[in-house]
Amino acid sequence: MRKREIHIVGNWKMNQTLHEISQFFVEMTKMKMELKCKAWIAPQAIHIPILKEIAFTTGTIQIGAQNCCEHDSGAFTGEISPLALADLGVEFVIIGHSERRTIYKEDNELLNKKILKALSHDLKIIYCVGEALEEREANLTNNVLEKQLREGLANFPVEKSHLLIIAYEPVWAIGTGKTASAEQAEDAHAFIRSCLPHDSEETIILYGGSVKPDNIDSLLRKPNIDGALVGGASLKASDFRQLCSSASIAM
Ligand code: PEP
Repeated sequence: MRKREIHIVGNWKMNQTLHEISQFFVEMTKMKMELKCKAWIAPQAIHIPILKEIAFTTGTIQIGAQNCCEHDSGAFTGEISPLALADLGVEFVIIGHSERRTIYKEDNELLNKKILKALSHDLKIIYCVGEALEEREANLTNNVLEKQLREGLANFPVEKSHLLIIAYEPVWAIGTGKTASAEQAEDAHAFIRSCLPHDSEETIILYGGSVKPDNIDSLLRKPNIDGALVGGASLKASDFRQLCSSASIAM
């Protein structure tokens, strides 16, 4: 019996047209699986309302955002307001994805502001951390993770710890087809759990980085891995369904 519920979270990034979205859900409903895990999807922000509506009708998947602003409103052209996300009834927001850190130069200080603002609206946070290849090779993985957690989670209100989910995503494994071994991921997850600023036994820690139907089982066998944040393999309904059924069996 697992202590924590398994979560399978699809990060659709900047993909999917309306037609592809409707195909995805047609295939998901055809599959009629009994979900025992949590199945979440973060589509492009522009598609959140439509996905919320479809997800409400099909009743299986919860919808979140891939990013949000550190402010609620104002002159921030192109940004995504956490207040508006909460207003829409969005379940969660991903903060600090490595693509935001590297392409958009978001640092721990900014990510901390985003986290605290999103939390003020009781949004669940998936905070992404992970080392680059050179950092792993230089034996710096734990130093990098510790800094990302300490700075990103500064002033985290302990009474909101149930809203925090961590995603360990080694940068070298995202979208590359290289997965961390289950042992490498387990070591990082155990370390992350030991760094959290509150009683971390309840905290969900996801693994992300080229998770596929054929490698999820070994990851989910590890005690500190509570699910996956999935990019590429979440775009196809058959793969996403397979990941959710592996997770349901592992529950
Ligand atoms: C991600 O985008 O968070 C991710 C892990 O992508 P992929 O599964 O494609 O590596």
